[in-house]
Amino acid sequence: YVNPQQILTVEDLTVSFDGFRAVDGLNLYIAPNECRVIIGPNGAGKTTVLDLICGRTRASGGTVLFKGRDLLKMREDQIVHAGVGRKFQTPSVYEDLTVLENLEISYPRGHSVWGALAFRRDGEVMDRIAEIARTIFLADALDEKAAFLSHGQKQWLEIGMLLIQDPELLMLDEPVAGMSVAERVKTAELLNRIVSDRSVIVIEHDMKFVADIATRVTVLHQGKLLAEGSMAHVQADPKVIDVYLGH
Ligand code: ADP
Repeated sequence: YVNPQQILTVEDLTVSFDGFRAVDGLNLYIAPNECRVIIGPNGAGKTTVLDLICGRTRASGGTVLFKGRDLLKMREDQIVHAGVGRKFQTPSVYEDLTVLENLEISYPRGHSVWGALAFRRDGEVMDRIAEIARTIFLADALDEKAAFLSHGQKQWLEIGMLLIQDPELLMLDEPVAGMSVAERVKTAELLNRIVSDRSVIVIEHDMKFVADIATRVTVLHQGKLLAEGSMAHVQADPKVIDVYLGH
């Protein structure tokens, strides 16, 4: 049974580390073309939720269905193959390769760095790379070595390396950390554009940025759902105000 209103269905998701419930009975429903932002104080379980969905951490219990497929029964690489992309906080691009080469080796046909580089640069691949490069504001930097990019450009490149695999769900952990204000504005523009083709889950602290990108906001606290809804709705919720003021 696949619910067309939900690309991702998370129910009663729980994980314990030595008896400590980092995620505790969480329900999360992500719609197609949604940009969901997860907020919450440090230690709330935000990163662990993404780790559970992408198969990096094994759940103790619950359900995670992606387009009807049970992700909790799949390995991390199978989950990527199923169409779930995950970006971690620190950019991990190949510093010695150019922007073009970084995108090229991330193209789904490349199974290894060398196999991908030996791969003939056919028109279809190059068109896709050019399109992604424009989306991530690096169309003029294709021949630049990644090592020479700014921190923000490296973050965009890594997003591009995920986009080239065309994931239907993209999960980003604090994508604008360390970015300038101008880069944050451009990243919001980038996310607003790519969400027309997929769903995105973002962990974020910068509330200005959250307001610019979120279709809905989920607030986590101590591994549990504290509040959910529009930015205005969760900001006005007394429970959320309490948690953020540290009462
Ligand atoms: P957030 O991303 O909201 O800051 P995390 O998901 O990183 O929170 O962590 C939630 C809680 O789970 C924290 O108390 C953290 O110390 C704990 N935790 C996360 N991963 C592990 C792990 N692999 N082993 C033990 N404790 C962990």
